Formats: sequence, structure tokens, C-alpha cells
Amino acid sequence: MNSASDQAQMMADLSRKGVTDKTVLDAIEATPRQMFLPDLFQAQAFDDVALPIGHHQTLSQPSVVGRMTQALDITERMKVLEIGTGSGYQACVLARLCRRLYTVERHPALFQEAEERIKKLGLVNVTMVVGDGSLGWPEQAPFERIMVTAAAADIPEILLDQLGDGGIMIVPVGLDENDQHLLRVRRANGDIETEDLGQTRFVPLVAGKAVD
Ligand code: SAH
Repeated sequence: MNSASDQAQMMADLSRKGVTDKTVLDAIEATPRQMFLPDLFQAQAFDDVALPIGHHQTLSQPSVVGRMTQALDITERMKVLEIGTGSGYQACVLARLCRRLYTVERHPALFQEAEERIKKLGLVNVTMVVGDGSLGWPEQAPFERIMVTAAAADIPEILLDQLGDGGIMIVPVGLDENDQHLLRVRRANGDIETEDLGQTRFVPLVAGKAVD
């Protein structure tokens, strides 16, 4: 199969797995997943599996990217923060849906590759930095949406403080690989509402900047 039909297959698979929001599907379709993966995994680029991106990190499976993006309920006027740029794939999907995406990665090598890909795709509304995302991006807060793509021990208070009123944060919580849940946290009129979106498996959020 060529990559166009592989991608068509992936898109059909996403709808079957509950990713039904047309703007989210369009953003995924416009982002060639193979560009974000090492040579070794090109053949699986459109399978619904998580794949290694180097430095012991992984790019989530397409259905997880789709469900998390859909749960964030983004509109085109929003300012969004992503923690854990990784390959840059999720960042590109988010950038197509919002006004400006801020993304933080602790690993300089991953950051650099992601930056090149984002440039190559012509996305000019992404601001990115190497740093410790567990601290968020206080200078740019508040954010209307926050997506954390690495697992935290608990709902990160620091990030919650950077979420504006009416804001939504999606975060995998739990450091036990077999007992980790994706949470949708909403700040409304000063109250915090939490919804469990189900079991998930992400690499841990690690404090501090990485050295190559
Ligand atoms: N969203 C990525 C996949 C994320 S994998 C993609 O689309 O490819 C998790 C990423 O979080 C890894 O790249 C890891 O280096 C990064 N990470 C872990 N802890 C971090 C922290 N404290 N600050 C910033 N990035 C972090």
C-alpha cells in the first residue's frame, strides 16, 4: 500500500474509534505522521500504535492523539499550552486548531528535530522552548487549554494555576504504568471539575531539563 491509502485507512479507523470531530480529523489528516518517525518505523506510521521517537520517548497512537485533541475542545481563537513536544506531531495537530500554540520539551535533541518539522510544515503559530514543562510557561499564562503528554503523579497544581477560567486541561495521571488515567480537568467559576477519560499509558513527566 502507498502512504495515501495507508493514511485513508488510518482516518477511517479514527472515526470508528470515536474521533468524530471534523476539525480534529482535518487537522490530523493534514499532518503527515510518517514525517515524525524514524526510518525504522516508517512502515507502521499509519497503524494505530504508539511508536518510539528516540531517547526512550514515544509518539502516542493516532486514536489517543485524536481523542485527547477532541476532549480539549479547542476553537481557533484560543491560546494553548502543550507540555512534552516530543516529535512535534501532537503540536502540529494542535497548532492547526488554535490561534497560538506554546510547547515545552525538556530534551534538546527532540526539541530541535520537532522545530525543523514544524517549520517544514509551514506552521507559524507555534512558540517553543527547551525547558521543564512541569513549571508550565508562567510568562505566557493564562492559557485557555493545556495538554500534558507525559504522565504526572497528580494533577499538576502549577499548571492548573496557569489555566484560565473556563479552561480545560488534559493530563495523564498516575506513575504506575498499569494504573494511569487520562483526566480532563475543567476550571469553572473558581471550581475544579475532574472527569476520568479512562486508562492510558504515557512516559513520565520528568522534572528538570535533560542533558544530551
Ligand atoms: N507529544 C509528543 C509525545 C510526547 S512523549 C509527540 O507528539 O510526539 C513525552 C514527551 O514529554 C517526551 O518528549 C519527553 O522528553 C517530554 N517530557 C517529559 N518530562 C518533561 C518536562 N518536565 N518538561 C518538558 N517535557 C517533558
